[in-house]
Amino acid sequence: MSAEVIGKSISELRSMLKAKTVSASEVLESHIAHIEKHESEINAFLSFTFDQARQQARTLDQNSGDFSDAGAVLAGVPVAVKDNMCVSGKITTCGSKILENFTAPYDAQAIVNLKNNGALILGKTNLDEFAMGSSTENSAYKCTNNPHDTSCVPGGSSGGSAAAVAAGFAVTALGSDTGGSIRQPASFCGVVGMKPTYGMVSRYGLVAFASSLDQIGPFGRTVEDTALTLLAIAGHDPKDSTSLTAPYRNNNPKGFPELTLSMIESLSKQSPAELLKGTRIGVIKELVGEGIETNVRNSVLDATKLLTALGAIVEEVSLPHSRYALPVYYLLATAEASANLARFDGVRYGLRDLDAPDILSMYNSSRSLGFGAEVKRRIMLGTYALSSGYYDAYYKKAQQVRRLITSDFEKIFEKFDLVLSPTAPSTAFKTGEKTGDPLQMYLSDIATIPANLAGLPGISLPCGTSVAGENAHRSEMPIGLQLLGAPVSDGLLIKVAYAFEQASKLKLQSPFLR
Ligand code: GLN
Repeated sequence: MSAEVIGKSISELRSMLKAKTVSASEVLESHIAHIEKHESEINAFLSFTFDQARQQARTLDQNSGDFSDAGAVLAGVPVAVKDNMCVSGKITTCGSKILENFTAPYDAQAIVNLKNNGALILGKTNLDEFAMGSSTENSAYKCTNNPHDTSCVPGGSSGGSAAAVAAGFAVTALGSDTGGSIRQPASFCGVVGMKPTYGMVSRYGLVAFASSLDQIGPFGRTVEDTALTLLAIAGHDPKDSTSLTAPYRNNNPKGFPELTLSMIESLSKQSPAELLKGTRIGVIKELVGEGIETNVRNSVLDATKLLTALGAIVEEVSLPHSRYALPVYYLLATAEASANLARFDGVRYGLRDLDAPDILSMYNSSRSLGFGAEVKRRIMLGTYALSSGYYDAYYKKAQQVRRLITSDFEKIFEKFDLVLSPTAPSTAFKTGEKTGDPLQMYLSDIATIPANLAGLPGISLPCGTSVAGENAHRSEMPIGLQLLGAPVSDGLLIKVAYAFEQASKLKLQSPFLR
């Protein structure tokens, strides 16, 4: 049975479920068996929620109408979720010792939406502690391995989710992206990953890292699977004050295609050239030059040639303030994190040092014992940036430059429909290669951070592989192409990504799917 459903897309599974060649419970058990066979090589998960998934599958099987075209979009689809989203009754660690015994009292809104759409939630995936990192090596529990080469990192911070999808453990997965944590691991693992427009998906029940940047989004092996998962989780939520309301979503003067089921289904009825005709795409000059590996640059430039050949209008554009994006991010994200993480004090949540003689030393030692080195570094940096006397020089200045970066994009989107760049400057690196040098690690996000600062949607999809042997110790590894659009252009990004995926005919399967 396993070989028949592992690696299948959502629409393939739906036809099989509809035709009753397989039941939801069988789809689930096959995925569980595949996980049990290979998880020790990948370490994608921190915990499993098989009991809830089995219950959901049984309910679906007893009500087979759910697999009809009118049924829930993810009926019977196994999905993995990053362990910084609350699943009711389950441990939510955020990859941190400080939350090792925290049981979530409710479902995050994105989880409610997944469940209402029939998804089978397999478990909670590994991440860098509190989503701070680019390799999943900052998890307090384990390192996740890249399914394309298990001696390499899967990227991060949503490395467990990206690896789970690439290894065929889950059909799709959820991650969170504050500075690139969905797109960069998608690029490293050869899957599709999307950060929606800020406010598209509710952050209710996502443990906050940097609230003005955090956004939940999907991973899939195909653009269509990614789009269907986004459709399932998106929507206004009054419990998140930054959630987009219907008038804003529909305030779409440029006529971006709205992300609906019929829009997604219509994609396969058109050729890539029909989908791309007349689309104006800017190639971000600052992100295809210095500091980008040759393999990656060549692959992205080949992608632009293909898009041009298909009828898109491709020109170089400049984001003059993009060189400040990294320092701005590391001031704002750490400032917000220092405030958000203040709640983990040994009293309200998680780990407490029971031997501390008094309350102040209890706060102190609970936090010292519970947080890892990277999280402590960020809390100190953020507290410094917000402290009196430095606030104007750092936090306020960073906010002003954030505005300039947003304006750069606004100017570009007056003339272009979307912009393109590599997702990351390199392919997946070796485990341990960058752990001693935080700055090198931070540079992994140079291309992804600007979209978070400006609240824009971004998608990463495979556009090629590195040449084996060209880069000293690397085997052939996936390369990601990033597309960024104006606010609420999520549907357009899906459309263009779909056209590219069909035209490039890339099939980047990890050895676990072959
Ligand atoms: N790698 C970036 C960081 O360490 C982004 C993390 C994220 O998007 N959650 O902050």
